[in-house]
Amino acid sequence: MHSLKITKIIDETSSVKTFYFPHNLKSRPGQFVMLWLPGIDQKPFSISFDDGRTFGLTIFKRGALTDKLFEMKINDRVGIDGPYGVGFSIKPDIHHIMVAGGYGAAPLAFLAEELIIKGNNNIDFCIGAKNKDSLLFTQRLNNIRLRIATDDGSSGQKGLITDLLKNIITADSRPKFIVTCGPELMEKKVLDICNQYNVDAEICLERYMKCGVGICGQCAMDDLGICLCTHGPVVTREVANKIKEFGVYHREKSGKKKYFI
Ligand SMILES: Cc1cc2nc3c(=O)[nH]c(=O)nc-3n(C[C@H](O)[C@H](O)[C@H](O)COP(=O)(O)OP(=O)(O)OC[C@H]3O[C@@H](n4cnc5c(N)ncnc54)[C@H](O)[C@@H]3O)c2cc1C
Repeated sequence: MHSLKITKIIDETSSVKTFYFPHNLKSRPGQFVMLWLPGIDQKPFSISFDDGRTFGLTIFKRGALTDKLFEMKINDRVGIDGPYGVGFSIKPDIHHIMVAGGYGAAPLAFLAEELIIKGNNNIDFCIGAKNKDSLLFTQRLNNIRLRIATDDGSSGQKGLITDLLKNIITADSRPKFIVTCGPELMEKKVLDICNQYNVDAEICLERYMKCGVGICGQCAMDDLGICLCTHGPVVTREVANKIKEFGVYHREKSGKKKYFI
């Protein structure tokens, strides 16, 4: 566990901030860290930026730990462990279509920047949000082909980000690779579209995680039994197709099933 100082805080939206820490994390896009606030909790967060000197976490304010984090200032310290988990493949030669919803844009922005460093600029970054004010990273990603969909039409196309995806897939017959991270029902739609058009994909999933190292079994996925913290959070299309609970239910802290619909 490293005790790290916050060196920069960016207000992304009214409920999302990116916190930067001076540390060579040696992470891959899609991996996560456990962030510990003594006396409060320890929670997993995807790495949203890592240039080898500094890394960033993009955090949505939603409960005890994130509320406390939002009160913190530059030079305050947090505990960081990691990186953990399996990240996205880095494929330098293929057209990537990235589908991000909410803070799911965090690991995908990091992936897009990593691909550009490797010489792959062939990226469509599709980002969906409720409205213009909830969109993440539109400035940060201004050198990438951004495709935007909002529920109310205040930015980009009105409607679902998955509608844009179909149009991009069918625009030409060149090989494509799809990566997605966001609300699980959105990810399930993306998976269904990938299956329909037979396009390879990687999906970053989220489950309640406690230990992060595959010991506690909290994030075991039915009915493969794999722990998402060590076999994921990024899984291939083939694995996602075998996870029976994907898009159907997840488990609360107590282990009780909670259905998405
Ligand atoms: C691999 C992974 C990557 C994540 N990346 C991000 C990220 O980049 N940005 C971000 O804002 N959030 C991310 N999360 C979710 C984040 O861990 C929870 O939102 C956070 O733990 C909420 O903590 P809290 O104490 O503020 O709220 P709480 O009141 O404790 O929880 C609010 C809700 O968050 C979810 N949650 C709480 N604890 C966990 C946990 N240990 N694991 C998973 N979900 C939990 C539950 O649905 C819960 O109802 C990620 C989760 C996982 C598993």
